[in-house]
Amino acid sequence: MSIEPARIADHIIEPEHLDRNANTVVAQLNDAGFDAYLVGGCVRDLLCGKSPKDFDVATNATPEEVKGLFNRSRLVGRRFPIAHVRFGREIIEVSTFRKGEADEVETDRRGMIVQDRAFGTLSDDAFRRDFSINALYFDVAQHEIIDYVGGIEDIRDQRLRLIGDPATRLAEDPVRLLRAIRFAAKLGFSIDAEIMEHVEDCADRLEAIPGARLFDEFMKLFLSGYATRVWEQMREGPLARSLFPTCNPENPVILEAMNSTDNRIAADMPVTPGFLIAVILWDDLVRRLEQLPAEERDQKVYDSALDTLAVQQQHIAVPRRFGIFAREVWQLQPRLEERHPRFIKRILGNKRFRAAFDFLQLRAACDYTVGARADNLDELSAWWEEIQTLEPGEQKALIDALPSPGQRRRRRRKRKPRNATDLGPRPDLT
Ligand code: ATP
Ligand code: MG
Repeated sequence: MSIEPARIADHIIEPEHLDRNANTVVAQLNDAGFDAYLVGGCVRDLLCGKSPKDFDVATNATPEEVKGLFNRSRLVGRRFPIAHVRFGREIIEVSTFRKGEADEVETDRRGMIVQDRAFGTLSDDAFRRDFSINALYFDVAQHEIIDYVGGIEDIRDQRLRLIGDPATRLAEDPVRLLRAIRFAAKLGFSIDAEIMEHVEDCADRLEAIPGARLFDEFMKLFLSGYATRVWEQMREGPLARSLFPTCNPENPVILEAMNSTDNRIAADMPVTPGFLIAVILWDDLVRRLEQLPAEERDQKVYDSALDTLAVQQQHIAVPRRFGIFAREVWQLQPRLEERHPRFIKRILGNKRFRAAFDFLQLRAACDYTVGARADNLDELSAWWEEIQTLEPGEQKALIDALPSPGQRRRRRRKRKPRNATDLGPRPDLT
């Protein structure tokens, strides 16, 4: 059965919006006798008046044929290999048209596999994609959009609609719901009510998704510049708890951290997932510490941090360095609150001081005293802000003016050697 797509010549994409390297790939494939189109996020973003993050190409050439045509290319992915064609720092992803998961394997009446042809036609390729707005092709030579699925209309109506039956498409891949939330936040689109009906079900099914894929999705959700809207949407339903089972979605510091992350991205400042991990899991760490006798808590931040991170790790595979980052930020919180005169200079020189101070500032701004030893977070945050602006001589005056630590005695105990899940040494403070 052949399905005739709509061809749309009247659209807002201008030739200068396109990417030279992507055009080269398309032209070279065409010259070799293959069909090739721009597809996916780049077409969607251009039609929404945004500049695409990257340009993807879809073609009827097999991955091996693509590789044969381009010197600087390599194949990635096993089940569905795609070609990466490199131009300096830019990579153009070239994928071969393929069929959807449901029809990729043909079986006979008894369920026996008779054919396993993953590759398909342009229309197969359109229907296997997730949202209608992600299934638009751009024919560079004709300067036309090819639309099999009503994506143009959905862009005009600003809606996210899954291709096919939402229940089926979400059962095939529950990550599609996270993608819906991400695209809705990015584009300001609404998500079809029918999709949101399955949110509970998807939240359950996310458990089965490999942690590494969820970490990729975590990065895209929260480090692309629209994390505030994503978190607002996620914390209302079961999704926040399905990605971060021990978090407190109501913790206002999380939303504030998302907001500050968005602002930093808008200002081209560096951001790290380690900071968000620290913020999101703070309540869990505090809960663990509060089960311990008060006088042991400061010594146990390290161990409790490992426990907090280990539980999270069962859901999202957070690379080790970001777990360490979060742990170091946590370990500095009691130090920042304690303001022990003897350690101030060392704390200021600690490589995590800046992040730890940012976290303290957010806790103070939200007046969120969970885990705080007193409710003077405002004063503490102002004090640490001030001391950073002072010359060493003036810093000393500020430190000398601190109330004396009194009879506080620091108890030191030898640490037991730790096992393989150890996240590394304590930050070098003492
Ligand atoms: P962006 O790169 O801006 O985040 P994108 O739409 O390009 O958005 P990618 O993850 O790069 O997202 O995927 C490229 C295209 O592949 C999508 O536009 C979509 O057509 C298809 N696609 C990606 N993930 C899925 C999925 N889980 N199910 C079906 N199709 C998908
Ligand atoms: Mg993309």
